[in-house]
Amino acid sequence: MTTPAQSCSAKECTTKFEEMYGRKAFTLKTMKERLPAEVYDHMVDTIERGAPLNSSVADIVAEAMKDWALEHGATHFAHWFHPLTGNTAEKHDSFMSPTGSGTAKISLRGKELIQGEPDASSFPGGGLRATFEARGYTAWDPASPAFIVENKNGSYLAIPTAFISWTGEALDHKVPLLRSIDALDRQARRALELFGISSRKVFTTVGTEQEYFLIDEKYHDKRRDLIVCGRTLLGAKPPKGQELDDHYFGRVSTRVLACMLEAEHRLYELGIPIKTRHNEVAPSQYEIAPTFADANLAADHQQLIMHTLRETAREYGFRCLLHEKPFAGINGSGKHNNWSVSTDGGLNLLEPGDTPVENERFLFFCAAVLKAVFRHQDLLRTSVASAANDHRLGANEAPPAIISVFLGDELSKIFAALAKGRKAVGKDGGVLGLGAKGLPELPRHSGDRNRTSPFAFTGNKFEFRAVGSSQSVSFPNVVLNVTVAEALDEMSTALEARLTAGEPLLDAVLGVVGKAAAEAQPILFEGDNYTEEWHREAEERGLLNLRDTVAAVSTLASEKNTQLFERFGVFTPRELRSRKEVMLEQYETTISIEASTLETLARTNVLPSAVTYLSELMDTCTKSSAMGLNISGTQTTGRKVSDALNMLVPAIDTLSELRQKHHDDVEEGAQYMRDHVIPAMEAVRKEADMLEQLVPARLWTLPTYLDMLFLH
Ligand code: ADP
Ligand code: MG
Repeated sequence: MTTPAQSCSAKECTTKFEEMYGRKAFTLKTMKERLPAEVYDHMVDTIERGAPLNSSVADIVAEAMKDWALEHGATHFAHWFHPLTGNTAEKHDSFMSPTGSGTAKISLRGKELIQGEPDASSFPGGGLRATFEARGYTAWDPASPAFIVENKNGSYLAIPTAFISWTGEALDHKVPLLRSIDALDRQARRALELFGISSRKVFTTVGTEQEYFLIDEKYHDKRRDLIVCGRTLLGAKPPKGQELDDHYFGRVSTRVLACMLEAEHRLYELGIPIKTRHNEVAPSQYEIAPTFADANLAADHQQLIMHTLRETAREYGFRCLLHEKPFAGINGSGKHNNWSVSTDGGLNLLEPGDTPVENERFLFFCAAVLKAVFRHQDLLRTSVASAANDHRLGANEAPPAIISVFLGDELSKIFAALAKGRKAVGKDGGVLGLGAKGLPELPRHSGDRNRTSPFAFTGNKFEFRAVGSSQSVSFPNVVLNVTVAEALDEMSTALEARLTAGEPLLDAVLGVVGKAAAEAQPILFEGDNYTEEWHREAEERGLLNLRDTVAAVSTLASEKNTQLFERFGVFTPRELRSRKEVMLEQYETTISIEASTLETLARTNVLPSAVTYLSELMDTCTKSSAMGLNISGTQTTGRKVSDALNMLVPAIDTLSELRQKHHDDVEEGAQYMRDHVIPAMEAVRKEADMLEQLVPARLWTLPTYLDMLFLH
């Protein structure tokens, strides 16, 4: 790897550094350099305003893209997409086509750029297609730059695409995200018109903070559970965890830093604006965050960040764990999803302004978010639901499964006053008069942070903190976009009615905001989300507490949600039901794989170690007795090992029996996993972890928590 800061003048170094950014992405900058002016203008129109592409433009762009890719060593191209597995997928095609008589031609036609046709039958579709109608199409997304994936033996051009069935139904994470961005765009522009602002486009901005662990490969590769499931299924608590808080923001170790620098370098080259890195709370846990971008791009980038972290880690002898809870008793990993709404002119609609009119606009948009979150707690919860994230949410280190909003003291007071029909309050909580002077100065930066809140206002954006570290950020943003679109729609209709009735703008806005605030009041919570009292209070307030994935996902295709998604053109009822099915299926399969892995680990690692030890102890007893020695210590130890073994074996047998039970209905299967298989896994783990603390280290074949978390 070459770093930009190597014996060059400041000016040269700056240029080098700047030129590195986006070098491997076919960005607008590259297009400008390589496309005829009118084609370039057409592309800008397509990318920024969704103008349709005709085939002659596509041919010219494809040709330029191919030439650029060849210059970067590419021999193939691949449509890159986001199936519902949560990972990305790609099918590679060579640029080379035979032309007969032993010759070949290198080309990329517009048609090939625009559309691909991978077989869709092996991707999760939740009943959307049977194998006889397996065709799926990938469709080029020009708004997300194509990029080069390098390999020492040749590179390829990856083209971001959407993935749909032959009937036009969404099979991926990108299609609904794009639809939801459009829905929000329409409603936000409509609302802005009422404030006298015309905007060509309003889009969602997303900045993701990714947490992850780096574990030495020599320990990782000895643990079948980490290899197969990405998390440890057993392992006793180490004597030292994160209690000393000595890792958070601590100095990054040399080898880890080398790995981070390499990963960041690669991400810069892809045009992914990585901004921050630091040690996280748990030992061997880290965070990486880019500067925010438009949601579609941010979601694609987020996948590339995860991929690059995984790949780079391997080259440095690490394994990158993106699982939400790799180690029991140690903080898990999340992904903070910072979300806001912005106009193409760069106006952040969740930024409190300097003038009363700006503040009214801010209050309007902010109230729409509160209304959306309150009304659709179930959807937000579901959008982050997975077997993995269940270990994290509500575990007193991550937000609880109860969705609430933290606004900060001042804003809370303002909304509370507006909810009561008062026009506004000042800093001291007193009611101010009407009119321009009456609007309070809004806090520009919320000082106090509440790390326990799942959904917090942080000055000019909302931060959704319940998102899982390994998941795609698309679905959570789909939910944010569509629910806020609905709230804006209702609030704009109400505002229009008031204005038509002759109410002055200021009064009308505050009236509408007040109503929304009144409706959403129960969702506002400023306190500690980890406490028992909050759980009780939330229940009294009637807030949902969807404790696990099954409970959450079961609500996905409800009447309310079906109507919402259909109305805003994000999911058809069939698509929504298919998502529900896929999520439940994934839950069931995940637990089933974990259960089977745990069974094998317990039988082939834990059991033999314990039996060997017991046999050693028995030998010692026999020999000691023969010498007339007191054997009480050995006997007590032997009894403990034997007791644990006698508990372990039936626990494994029970797990084995339960996990193999077949269920025709996916919801039933998922429930069964939750209610029977998970407890059976916990029972096995309890005895195994007990044995780990009894059996000598030399006989214990699995790397321990201490090895994995503290040794690099
Ligand atoms: P932290 O939450 O750790 O204090 P920051 O406040 O710096 O971190 O921001 C975290 C993330 O929020 C970054 O990815 C940043 O780019 C993103 N962010 C900042 N402003 C916006 C915005 N208007 N919309 C979406 N994301 C934003
Ligand atoms: Mg943050």
